Amino acid sequence: MRMELLIDGVYQLGAGMVNSYIIDGDEGVTLVDTLVRGRDGAIAQNLKEIGRSLADVRAILLTHSHMDHTGSASAIKAASTARVYASEADTPAIQGVEKPPNPPTHWYWRPMYWPAVFFPDPPPVEVDHFVSEDAKEVLPGGLRAIDTPGHTPGHTSYILDRAGGLLLVGDAAVATKDGRVKRLAFNRSTPGIDGSLRHLAEFEFEIAAFCHSKPIRTHASGAFRKFAESLTSPTAPNPHHIAAVSERR
Ligand SMILES: [Zn+2]
Repeated sequence: MRMELLIDGVYQLGAGMVNSYIIDGDEGVTLVDTLVRGRDGAIAQNLKEIGRSLADVRAILLTHSHMDHTGSASAIKAASTARVYASEADTPAIQGVEKPPNPPTHWYWRPMYWPAVFFPDPPPVEVDHFVSEDAKEVLPGGLRAIDTPGHTPGHTSYILDRAGGLLLVGDAAVATKDGRVKRLAFNRSTPGIDGSLRHLAEFEFEIAAFCHSKPIRTHASGAFRKFAESLTSPTAPNPHHIAAVSERR
């Protein structure tokens, strides 16, 4: 599978349609998302290219419960000692207790959503640790969680504070070919996702990497700010959005 170096020790797997991430650190390998079901063998092959194996995976951080992100988590967890990290809100769907919050049926007619039709539900995987922005903790791989609900109720993005900042956006947004930020057209709540995108625009990061588009490699936080400034419709307040807090006062 195609693998692209983003910054030292951080690799994007996939060619833009569906991506996940490897963070290779002293403490072992951290994966952010796991592609669809049955991709554990391909991920193992990529790990081999950087001198690692599935047994080196210590943590799997999930952005959300959709099957193109959680699909191979169960197989990788079984082949390693990895702990699985995800938001509390998305955990019932990740653990197979609830159906993942799928989009309205008409979105299924868009080719990029066909995997949701043709791939079976992902094998459930047990979540070992809840992530939240409130916890203010440094997660495996040196990542911090940013709550970005909207695409799913508990969608989480992750940021790495080195090399000018790297944001792993997940499905909170995608990049256009000319490097603009836009919504992924597949959200449970559009005001929710807009509130989350306004919140992401408050961070500084040079690079943004997405699950369903190519990365933005320079001045990425500027592209998020441009999107946030273009919003005219009301947005649902993201609990961490600084301006939203002051607006409420
Ligand atoms: Zn998704």
